[in-house]
Amino acid sequence: MLKIQNLHASVEQKHILKGLNLDIKPGEVHAIMGPNGAGKSTLGYILSGREGYEVSEGSVDFQGEDLLEMEIEDRARKGLFLAFQYPVEIPGVSNMEFMKESVNAMREQRGEAPLSAAEFLKKAKEACKQVQLPLDFLKRGVNEGFSGGEKKRNELMQMILLEPTLCILDESDSGLDIDALQVVANGVNSQRDGKRSFIVITHYQRLLDYIEPDHVHILANGKVVKSGDASLAKEVEKEGYAFLGQDNAEEA
Ligand code: ADP
Ligand code: MG
Ligand code: MG
Repeated sequence: MLKIQNLHASVEQKHILKGLNLDIKPGEVHAIMGPNGAGKSTLGYILSGREGYEVSEGSVDFQGEDLLEMEIEDRARKGLFLAFQYPVEIPGVSNMEFMKESVNAMREQRGEAPLSAAEFLKKAKEACKQVQLPLDFLKRGVNEGFSGGEKKRNELMQMILLEPTLCILDESDSGLDIDALQVVANGVNSQRDGKRSFIVITHYQRLLDYIEPDHVHILANGKVVKSGDASLAKEVEKEGYAFLGQDNAEEA
């Protein structure tokens, strides 16, 4: 699904990712943890193709294609979903229009017929229900005046509707309360189907009480320094990041 090899990347001339490797198979849920400043969000931004992030070395293979060469819109169309840490507002464009267009662009990519307005509405209503958003959210401007929790729910609704093949969620700094945490966990768990893969980025172990990851990676100083199963997250919760040593653990 996704194979990252020896990835080096910088932003504003600052070398942040320093030889990162990651191999994600279909259906797997990978949690990425690590101290503040480790490069977790940078990894998400690189994969999404955000401007200003420069890759100097390494490769990213997504379903047999060079992800780093793909246009940003193509990444989404080909099944990559990145739930942004701070979702953008698009005033004047309704959630409904925005999502219908996005969903149909993805369907076109997969060679499927576009959904009619009625078909889409039916799916959108179901998705609203699933993330506990009132139906009038479909008519509101994208993220316009949404509270933190509502943005989070909206993001999960987008994920459900888009049916991506690889979802990347960065929950590191989003200060999720227990309700929002449950929404995220339910969203991920309900979309796990043995084929779809997830990268869940999180600073704390708490979220992983609700999402059982197949693999846990500790990212520090721009690379994966330790990998394990779900028990590694529990270890980190107990011991913190002290095992990383002084240089990497100062903010843990
Ligand atoms: P994490 O998500 O693991 O907390 P980030 O990926 O946000 O870490 O940041 C990694 C490092 O890169 C940090 O030291 C951060 O200060 C630095 N960094 C991130 N964005 C920029 C930027 N635009 N300009 C300069 N430094 C940056
Ligand atoms: Mg951070
Ligand atoms: Mg971050």
